[in-house]
Amino acid sequence: MMIPFEVVLLGTEPNEFNRVGSKKRTLRDFFRNHHGRESSPQEIRIDGRKVLGSRKTVDPGDGKGPMNSASSRSHILKVLVFLLVFPIPAAGEVITRLPTREPRIALTFDACEMGQPHYLDAAVLDTLLSEQIPFTLFVSGKFARRNREELRRIAARDFVEVENHSLSHHHHMERLAPGRVREEVLVAGQLIEEITGKKPQFFRFPAGNYDAKTLRTVEDLGYRVVHWTFASGDPDIHLTPERLTRRVLSRSTNGSILIFHINGRGYATGRALPQILDGLRSRGYRFVTLKEALDPPGNRPTPAGAGAFSPRAGEVP
Ligand SMILES: [Zn+2]
Repeated sequence: MMIPFEVVLLGTEPNEFNRVGSKKRTLRDFFRNHHGRESSPQEIRIDGRKVLGSRKTVDPGDGKGPMNSASSRSHILKVLVFLLVFPIPAAGEVITRLPTREPRIALTFDACEMGQPHYLDAAVLDTLLSEQIPFTLFVSGKFARRNREELRRIAARDFVEVENHSLSHHHHMERLAPGRVREEVLVAGQLIEEITGKKPQFFRFPAGNYDAKTLRTVEDLGYRVVHWTFASGDPDIHLTPERLTRRVLSRSTNGSILIFHINGRGYATGRALPQILDGLRSRGYRFVTLKEALDPPGNRPTPAGAGAFSPRAGEVP
């Protein structure tokens, strides 16, 4: 069960603040962010009410001084019990893990493009298609336009889903005006639907950067935002296929959402993927698309805001 709550981090790095600053997350996601580093909460609020405060502002211990680690643990336990008893509806949620205890894993591949032309990585694609592995592509609108015919062919396979990664892959969408954010999401969505014949329902922020307002704008357009459980690190040109394989196999657990690149930026991904797939299968994992895991049949809301944006003639790239 996903139990969201609002976390307010104080005094974190500016870049990190964008990622974990003020948003609803599950407790597990909070303590293990998508870089795999551990975080410490300074303040946790539920519906605006502070239930766990910083050492300076709240002392749930003996009242004589700052929380010691034992009382801190005890207070976190109370918060957990509170969250279990009073679940809060999910909203403003960035999904970083599948809601399952089964050995299921989602393979997601980003196809980013902003400046230079990018094309589909044939080695990655051949492995996925020849083995008929369910996977999810997050494509930017510009990439979709450039790789239109190939995307159309791929999307015709029933184990492939193509989702929205913005139009122009701006690395800081939280710095854009709300109208521009809507355009980035809606024009890319229209392009993807036109090419694949299927309306995308999941969105991934370029470079993973967003804030609460941008997240809400995207959700108001009918999308659910899906990021990743841990970064594979495949845009690192120095990462060998062996290290990439070890990293992914050692960190994957039930419900992991894996992220790779399929636009040539995953330098070792094509060579590592066969070993990664073999390793995961030998550990008993099954691969699922996001739709299968997050939006099972019979539980599909009608997207809000669909068709709300109508660019003037000549504006659609
Ligand atoms: Zn990207």
